[in-house]
Amino acid sequence: MNHLPVECPRCAFEDISRLATSPVPGVWDVLQCGRCLYTWRTSEPARRTRRDAYPDSFKLTVADIENAIEVPTVPPLLK
Ligand SMILES: [Zn+2]
Repeated sequence: MNHLPVECPRCAFEDISRLATSPVPGVWDVLQCGRCLYTWRTSEPARRTRRDAYPDSFKLTVADIENAIEVPTVPPLLK
């Protein structure tokens, strides 16, 4: 297995799984965080793939995730 990042760029969780790999081996992988489900391709820029470059305003903490239980309801169908 190729090198996987040690932590999620968004929430810093360390359980990262590989969802897909490039048809040409070794070009990119699609990775997903086991906690916040953030998903990224390794060929994306550092601001999407590295915790230290990820924008602070989009980073999540455990408290953020636990409090993110509000899911907007689907509005009634239009008549
Ligand atoms: Zn995460």
